[in-house]
Amino acid sequence: MELYKENQLKIYNSLSKSKELFEPVVAGRVGMYVCGPTVYSNVHLGNIRTFMSFDMVFRYLLHLGYKVRYVRNITDAGHLENDADEGEDRIAKKARLEEIEPMEVVQRYTVDFHTVAAKYNFLPPSIEPTATGHIVEQIEMVKKIMDKGFAYEVNGSVYFDVLKYNEENNYGILSGRTIEDAIHNTRVLDGQSDKKNPQDFALWKKADDRHIMRWPSPWSDGFPGWHLECSVMSSKYLGDTFDIHGGGMDLKFPHHECEIAQSHTCHDTAPVNYWMHANMLLLNGQKMAKSTGNYILPEEILTGENAILPKAFNAGVVRFFIMQAHYRSILDFSNEALLASEKGYNKLMEAFKHLSTVIASDKTSGFDVQAWRQKCYDAMNDDFNTPILIAHLFEAVKFINGLRDQKVSISAEDLKTLKLTLDGFIFDILGLSNEDTQQDSNKIEGVVELLIKLRKEARDNKDWALSDKIRDELLALGIQLKDGREGTTFTIN
Ligand code: AMP
Ligand code: ZN
Repeated sequence: MELYKENQLKIYNSLSKSKELFEPVVAGRVGMYVCGPTVYSNVHLGNIRTFMSFDMVFRYLLHLGYKVRYVRNITDAGHLENDADEGEDRIAKKARLEEIEPMEVVQRYTVDFHTVAAKYNFLPPSIEPTATGHIVEQIEMVKKIMDKGFAYEVNGSVYFDVLKYNEENNYGILSGRTIEDAIHNTRVLDGQSDKKNPQDFALWKKADDRHIMRWPSPWSDGFPGWHLECSVMSSKYLGDTFDIHGGGMDLKFPHHECEIAQSHTCHDTAPVNYWMHANMLLLNGQKMAKSTGNYILPEEILTGENAILPKAFNAGVVRFFIMQAHYRSILDFSNEALLASEKGYNKLMEAFKHLSTVIASDKTSGFDVQAWRQKCYDAMNDDFNTPILIAHLFEAVKFINGLRDQKVSISAEDLKTLKLTLDGFIFDILGLSNEDTQQDSNKIEGVVELLIKLRKEARDNKDWALSDKIRDELLALGIQLKDGREGTTFTIN
């Protein structure tokens, strides 16, 4: 039986501001859309935190046995310097400054994002569509919204009529902002815009002569508004109403609010059943952000070449650090926090490694493995509560250390459950890579092979004292050599 049938997953829905029982549109299947990066610069660790949170969500849904279609887009056009539809396209600006083609910018930073994602052990999404690959569909959506009377054209640009939409719908349903708030936030642009009302947002913008990223449309040579691509690509691949839409908290307004207004108008239905928002990663008490220079790159943490940390950390430790906080909580990045996570991560990995050497006895004492397993699932079912899950994993660590010290015992069946459960939660769900563990054991095997070779040389030279010393000292470390006709083999206890 699929695990989702016996697990009641609850998700905090930013729309209702409460935890709701998760019921997908189609039983057994999940459609999830997450706003991807704007590929005009390297992703910083804050961006990575948000994508890692949804990687964990994706992993847990897969673990529960759902068939998941996970769509995470690449924004390669339309995202202007400022959220109020003004300024230069971020990608075009970078291209201008570096004197390269916009698509070279896109290529460079898409590759960078994929490289970082692989290093941090992200599962690839099912579909990774781009804005520029869906210009035709975006023009079609603008036409539909205009046909329905919720958009107007001025001087080759098309704007969404927020006040008209708000007559029968609630523009602010997600962010809690009122129309007055929206007006207040956009007042600076009064007088310099073609918009009927300052809170209206662009669906299509006419490109001025200098704007190089442009496409023909019925209204002008121009480019789509930033919010439009996500409405188009989510509905194209997941349907008019789909299960989960995610992104960072800072995308709630205006981006997601505008997505709802566009999609609702176009398809006459609410587009998303569960809106999920990941909270911000802070550095020096401030949001990590490229624009302020307050950031660290994920790559710099791995190499240690940065001004913030005195040493390098591996990706598993950084992932563990991020998973130790709930995805809806603010998280402060610091050297001290990473050092603490490194200790915890190593402890967990050591205990997991030790488990493979444990010998079962006829009964379990001191630990209820079944009840513990259930608690791990309960934590994840409670809106993906990874910090609570990790606390439960450390109860198992304590027990495993008891096994090592021979203070407690475990039956063969419980040992199997413990191993399988830990393996599932540590590697499949939290996505901590076991690459370090694997690398360590490769190294140990290499060193033992070398000692076997040196011992053979000693024996060939009839240096029995050295040969016995190597054998006995390895045995004291739990590594047993066995001499046979084919040569010497070894076992590690
Ligand atoms: P962008 O490439 O700017 O569209 O951002 C990509 C994603 O990273 C969005 O979901 C943002 O909400 C998210 N994000 C940006 N800054 C941070 C931060 N400091 N902490 C967590 N997520 C962030
Ligand atoms: Zn989006």
